[in-house]
Amino acid sequence: MNKDNPYLLLTPGPLSTSRTVREAMLKDWCTWDDDYNLGVVQAIRARLEALTGYPDLYSSVLMQGSGTASVEACLGSVIGQNHKLLIVDNGAYGARMVEIARRLNILHRVYQLDECQPADPEELARLLAEDDTISHVAMVHCETTTGLLNPLEAVGRVVQQAGRCFIVDAMSSFGGIPIDFQRAGIDFLISSANKCIQGVPGFGLVLARRSRLLACEGQARSLSLDLFDQWRVMEQGGGKWRFTSPTHVVRAFHQALLELEQEGGVAVRHARYCQNQRRLVAGMVALGFEPLLDEALMSPIITSFLAPTAPGYDFKRFYERLKGAGFVIYPGKVSRADCFRIGNIGEVYPADMDRLLAAVAAHSDWQA
Ligand SMILES: *Cc1c(COP(=O)(O)O)cnc(C)c1O
Repeated sequence: MNKDNPYLLLTPGPLSTSRTVREAMLKDWCTWDDDYNLGVVQAIRARLEALTGYPDLYSSVLMQGSGTASVEACLGSVIGQNHKLLIVDNGAYGARMVEIARRLNILHRVYQLDECQPADPEELARLLAEDDTISHVAMVHCETTTGLLNPLEAVGRVVQQAGRCFIVDAMSSFGGIPIDFQRAGIDFLISSANKCIQGVPGFGLVLARRSRLLACEGQARSLSLDLFDQWRVMEQGGGKWRFTSPTHVVRAFHQALLELEQEGGVAVRHARYCQNQRRLVAGMVALGFEPLLDEALMSPIITSFLAPTAPGYDFKRFYERLKGAGFVIYPGKVSRADCFRIGNIGEVYPADMDRLLAAVAAHSDWQA
């Protein structure tokens, strides 16, 4: 907790940010000037491309809007009229991609799984083998719905070996979980400013294999969400956005990237998140709570807990009491089980987990 905020956000984003990230917004910027285009936007793009590990292969596009706008821009620009998309659906964000495909009239098929079941690379290989009209595969990496982590590298290997294009919604994992872009055969990866990079909300980003991106010209089903046009203007205009960019948010993101580097990079941040999450789960289990998922399926990002069955339990009251103690948790999003979720990303440390657990112990009196 800090003096600007009465409570810590234990949510999947927007999340608690550092004071220095928020302070970076205390200046106005001209979108025409090099201070902004070169000093901020191009610096961000270079850093993001470096995070892929293969900056010669991948380029970056920043896109106004929440994360979903970038997912929609990506699917609507990458998949052409003669293509067919296979969507892995094991949660609300997989289902959202299905809805986007439906609205945009993208020819698609759904690999439907239960919310507690990770994608099976062998089953996916079978689906691709039996339908050679499938040209693209889209999957969520960390399903923020439950906290489930899909096996990115194993699935990516299958997609790559089958010669299909692989699109990954890594919204809630990029920057917080190391991702080997080449081993995972990633063609397009989508994330946003307000998740593991620990910026504030306002834009999304797509890291794209250049060769695949170049094939997207003229395909977009939308003007403002045209990924290729957005990229071309950024490339040719030296960091220029096509339409008004969220300048303060972008500047805060630049600061957040510097702080990721200062922390020691993605591997070090990942270790902190893992430590947070392990401490959270061990403490909650000791207090009598039951996680929704087996430990092997959990991500170090967010954890779902089954709602207590004791008659005295009421989520809203529990939530308000924890908020009063300085912690905001998240309602559940799983359709078949009553849950609540606790995130552990952002400016959150193991000592915060200890303080949270003490507050949970003090405010779960229905157990008595
Ligand atoms: C946060 C998130 C999104 C995007 O959500 P917005 O509310 O549009 O920012 C998409 N996919 C996943 C997996 C997410 O966690």
